[in-house]
Amino acid sequence: MAERYDFDYFVIGGGSGGVRSARIAGAHGAKVGLAEERDLGGTCVNVGCVPKKLFTYAAHFAHDFEDAAGYGWTLGERSFSWRTLIENKNREIARLNGVYRRLLEGAGVEIFDTRATLEDTHTIRLGDGRKVTARTILIAVGGWPTRPSEPGTELGITSNEAFFLEDLPKHITVCGGGYIAVEFSGIFKALGVEVTHLYRGRSLLRGFDRDLGQSLATEMMKQKIDLRFETIISRLSQTGDGLAATLSDGRLLETGTVLFAIGRTPMTEGLGLEKAGVARDAMGAIVVDAEYKTNIDNIYAVGDVTNRVNLTPVAIAEGHIVADRLFGNRSRALGYEFIPTAVFSNPPIATVGYTEEAARKTYGAVDVYRTSFRPMKHTLSGRDERTVMKLVVDKGTDRVVGAHMIGPDAPEIMQGVGIALNAGATKAQFDATIGIHPTAAEEFVTLRTPLPPPAPTED
Ligand SMILES: Cc1cc2nc3c(=O)[nH]c(=O)nc-3n(C[C@H](O)[C@H](O)[C@H](O)COP(=O)(O)OP(=O)(O)OC[C@H]3O[C@@H](n4cnc5c(N)ncnc54)[C@H](O)[C@@H]3O)c2cc1C
Repeated sequence: MAERYDFDYFVIGGGSGGVRSARIAGAHGAKVGLAEERDLGGTCVNVGCVPKKLFTYAAHFAHDFEDAAGYGWTLGERSFSWRTLIENKNREIARLNGVYRRLLEGAGVEIFDTRATLEDTHTIRLGDGRKVTARTILIAVGGWPTRPSEPGTELGITSNEAFFLEDLPKHITVCGGGYIAVEFSGIFKALGVEVTHLYRGRSLLRGFDRDLGQSLATEMMKQKIDLRFETIISRLSQTGDGLAATLSDGRLLETGTVLFAIGRTPMTEGLGLEKAGVARDAMGAIVVDAEYKTNIDNIYAVGDVTNRVNLTPVAIAEGHIVADRLFGNRSRALGYEFIPTAVFSNPPIATVGYTEEAARKTYGAVDVYRTSFRPMKHTLSGRDERTVMKLVVDKGTDRVVGAHMIGPDAPEIMQGVGIALNAGATKAQFDATIGIHPTAAEEFVTLRTPLPPPAPTED
């Protein structure tokens, strides 16, 4: 099928979306090439979901040790080795890199361990100067942490470096209000680092139900994270053994390290998009249609480089759909309305569907069911932590259109709730489901009384 091209399909970027797409295309019989300039598996495997979740497990032990006392346990002397954690994490990730390589090779994909850029609509230039051609090209180059522009901020680190710190600082300043920022604050705090968390906005986790951001802020403060809103670093400078941050409120902060987690930018600079005529939006993201096709007929893009829903399972699903459509004669559309997602903060958060605010805008009349309680485990552990669970229901159809939770096991619980919401479950069907007792999850099927509607606001 390759005819005058070297490849039927050439994938730039061996992350979540690229690897899946290349593999599926190969399995459908296409001649496939893939270029990866760093490590196979991309952000998720190397500097994202996977190491982050491993760090979260490490952090959780600290709480479990504390909570054990209320259950009668006396624990001996405890110590934590950051270096052991990093070494073990690196070993696991090297194993996963190998798994990805074998999966690609098994599907007959030719791997180029190098950077690739576009020369024209069908030609790819490889890092060593070689050129290859492809009938169809997929761009799956992901994103890169955004850095602030204030003076001295290059002295700080981003999530990329946080996974490879040689030693834990005594104090860290985390900047940002999104999920990556709050996750790192929780991890470092539990591992014994003093944390100051700065955010330019007024509430954490924009885009999530407001209740979740507010509850998380309360829990972070209970954990003695020094959380400051409407504050940024306006200047950063080196001191003898750390950094000095001048804050936007004029205060000075001495800190060991500053971690900027203020967003991510699609990695489209220097990719040769202009040579091929591929259009980008104002943020630098590649613009695609409903079938992930760019404005150029034979060039597609999936995942974070399109800056739509920046999550691994979404990139994977998009890459899979493109390969199936191009080479497997299968057509399927991805629903973006009810994508479950989690924040591995402490306590964790999970959500699916519409926030209360967005549901009111979309559906008009909605019923909101909410509960807040101390998790059963903490009745004996004594930990002062509250779980919040919330359902948002379209009054017109009784369909549950949003589910939100902060509390232990929220991500594990929400995956099942996500199936229900994708299936269009109504509140009556939630109510008819027998709860698993005693769990927190059962609250989702026993919420009986909606909150009173909010008082009308004066416009
Ligand atoms: C700290 C952190 C935590 C995260 N946690 C989660 C989580 O818990 N759950 C979740 O679902 N998502 C999480 N994400 C997001 C997730 O990692 C991304 O959504 C996902 O990796 C996107 O996949 P992708 O294929 O679009 O891009 P990527 O996985 O970023 O892959 C792109 C690849 O392209 C390569 N590349 C770039 N340019 C070139 C080039 N010119 N030539 C060759 N190769 C190139 C890059 O080196 C990279 O390997 C997290 C992200 C971060 C940063």
